[in-house]
Amino acid sequence: VKLLIPRETAPGERRVAATPETVRRLVAKGATLQVERGAGQAAGFLDADYAAVGAELWDGEACDWETADAVLCVQPPRAEVLARLQAGALLVGLLAPYGATDLVERLNDRRASAIALELLPRITRAQSMDVLSSQANIAGYKAVLLAAAALDRYVPMLMTAAGTIQPSRVLILGAGVAGLQALATARRLGGVVYVSDVRPAVKEQVESLGGRFIDPPQLEEAPAEVGGYARQASEAFLAAQRQQLADQLALADMVICTALVPGRPAPRLISEAMLDGMRPGAVVVDLAVAQGGNCFGTIPGATVERRGVLLIGADGLPSTVPNHASALYARNIAALIEHVLVEDGFRLDPEDPILDGCLFTHAGVCRRDDIVQPAGLSPIG
Ligand code: NAD
Repeated sequence: VKLLIPRETAPGERRVAATPETVRRLVAKGATLQVERGAGQAAGFLDADYAAVGAELWDGEACDWETADAVLCVQPPRAEVLARLQAGALLVGLLAPYGATDLVERLNDRRASAIALELLPRITRAQSMDVLSSQANIAGYKAVLLAAAALDRYVPMLMTAAGTIQPSRVLILGAGVAGLQALATARRLGGVVYVSDVRPAVKEQVESLGGRFIDPPQLEEAPAEVGGYARQASEAFLAAQRQQLADQLALADMVICTALVPGRPAPRLISEAMLDGMRPGAVVVDLAVAQGGNCFGTIPGATVERRGVLLIGADGLPSTVPNHASALYARNIAALIEHVLVEDGFRLDPEDPILDGCLFTHAGVCRRDDIVQPAGLSPIG
């Protein structure tokens, strides 16, 4: 089979969907890998390194999209590329499937199949393919480094000849993959870390990493979880949670926001009034900013100062650690390709528990109208 790796064209995207390591791995399985010249450059992977492990290099214009069996990407390719896919071709990437009616129409036009890695199930068998986890991990790590670099204080406790410096106080909202890595990173820097989540099950994980868990408000309609994800909280629950967090915020030096509910706007956990209670010099990094933000006033890709508090709208952090982000992303994709690869093509079995949820278009038919058609969006909670 012929696999195509395009150079990513989305603004700010520096990752690539295959590295020399995964090209070697897939070539050994009998695949032909065609890599666009310069595809890995922003992530530190050179054309010569791809060529050395058996990739064929092509120039953007000269690409034969029509003959590709699969296109492996990070973000969705350009419309003109999609228009040239052959019938039955497979597209794999972070395809932003929620409400993606245009993309689905283009794919169905070509009778192409697409796997949206956002929809991969969080089951043990799919762990090696779990792009959301590998990338969220990087985002959680980098968010703490950004906050530490912007902070007007030390993070660790220091005993110096000029006296003792108290450690910074860190508040993390959401203890999923990103939040737990943020906790671990902040602890490595020596911070005292408090963590809030609505899923009581994460308390143990937080404590095992040296964090202090803030128990969720004890309301009857507590959102709890479904399939390991948080359900959407009611407005009453969020109001109780905000009240609880207001005191924490007033003491915090660094706040890392990672709270998400799949397919829904991010819960708004920090209001304008709560920001007013924070000390000047404190820093908020909002990883949920692209989903509407956990914090009032954060803007995707921008840093704004509000009454001395720095609000960092941290969109696309994995792309700012492009070498390791690509290394992990490419391994996740290689594991998925190996899972579906058969002698003369791909076996895309919609009954396969790994593919069932994430094969969102197949041979001209959209299989996940529930998430693609915004009108059909059903509440998760
Ligand atoms: P996510 O990105 O959807 O959400 C991040 C966190 O925000 C979650 O912990 C969620 O509970 C929390 N949250 C939602 N609303 C909140 C609120 N109002 N206040 C505070 N926190 C709130 O989650 P994720 O990082 O993708 O992880 C989801 C789960 O999947 C985790 O339990 C994780 O351990 C699990 N997981 C399992 C596997 C596997 O078994 N293969 C792989 C990866 C992750």
